[in-house]
Amino acid sequence: MSSHPALRDARGRPLGTLRLSVTDRCNLRCAYCMPEQEYVWLPREELLTFEELELLARHFVVAGTRRIRLTGGEPLLRRDLPELVARLARIETLEELALTTNGVLLADHAAALRTAGLKRITVSLDTLDPERFERLARRRELPRVLAGIAAARACGLPVKLDTVVLRGDNEDEIPALLDFAREQDAELRFIEYMDVGGATHWESSKVCSQEAMLDAVARARGAAVPLTRKDPAAPAGRWRTPDGQIFGIIASTTQPFCAACDRSRLTADGRWLLCLYAREGLDLRAPLREGRSAEWFQERIRSAWSQRDDQGAVERLKLDERRGPSMDLDALLQDPHLEMHVRGG
Ligand code: SAM
Ligand code: SF4
Repeated sequence: MSSHPALRDARGRPLGTLRLSVTDRCNLRCAYCMPEQEYVWLPREELLTFEELELLARHFVVAGTRRIRLTGGEPLLRRDLPELVARLARIETLEELALTTNGVLLADHAAALRTAGLKRITVSLDTLDPERFERLARRRELPRVLAGIAAARACGLPVKLDTVVLRGDNEDEIPALLDFAREQDAELRFIEYMDVGGATHWESSKVCSQEAMLDAVARARGAAVPLTRKDPAAPAGRWRTPDGQIFGIIASTTQPFCAACDRSRLTADGRWLLCLYAREGLDLRAPLREGRSAEWFQERIRSAWSQRDDQGAVERLKLDERRGPSMDLDALLQDPHLEMHVRGG
């Protein structure tokens, strides 16, 4: 397949990063993502096979995608995931292949993922307290997550840590999580709680803003200074503490980065979403199963991306005091594609 001229959307943003969801299932129930008791799951026969995922990934790479991140649901619940990693790692012009996981199953799979060609891994970790973990994620899994982080490091996989900070739940752990990240030689990123998808319990009073996070860091370590962004499309601003530790903050709720967003998302059943907040997506599974040509996919991807003008998080910010959860429960039950755990975060 040959390359085409650089593809930009209606706001001049490139098609840089694809978040590829490999399953909608999850073995945790994080309060900010899956707070409900019941979920509607995607039918298994509708999930893309590894062959289909690879083929679509290749179409996206030809159209200009440079980075792929595997996600979910919990991606390590997808059987034989290292086989998919090996397939994607062989795509020559792909610059980055990464994985975001909750870490519960990581100890079992870290070595195989590394051997398959995974370059780095991000583990979500919101607390170091086992009881609090159970309260926040409704499962007693902190020891396995910590073992997963240790296993990834032991086999040479660089680890990043992601923490969603909820006011009144885990903001008091900002210093302890920073200390832990330093011990683990891992860069930590604090994420603002977003009013997205299945975050049906979202309220603005639960958001710990970037400003409040920086205050907490300053109290523990002294004022952090901002670093210049190397990659304008990176969602996290990076900071350095006076004692030299670098960490990130993803301030998508109070300071959206839509203007530089190069991300799109493919759900595990082949729905392509051009914005995290998009209500609709483009079905790529049907044309794939109908045997459409590579040229057809190029035309489809290019025409959709060139018309993209979404800036969902900026629109949410404009709601100001009227801001609440972005989806109601009935809508989520009718269309699971609206869920964060289906669109991959
Ligand atoms: N299960 C994996 C995990 O937790 O890392 C991958 C999928 S998860 C949907 C991807 C990311 O989305 C996680 O880092 C999670 O913390 C984040 N996330 C989910 N809901 C969120 C919300 N309401 N606000 C901010 N981040 C959220
Ligand atoms: Fe938590 Fe990730 Fe599962 Fe959502 S998909 S409930 S963030 S582990």
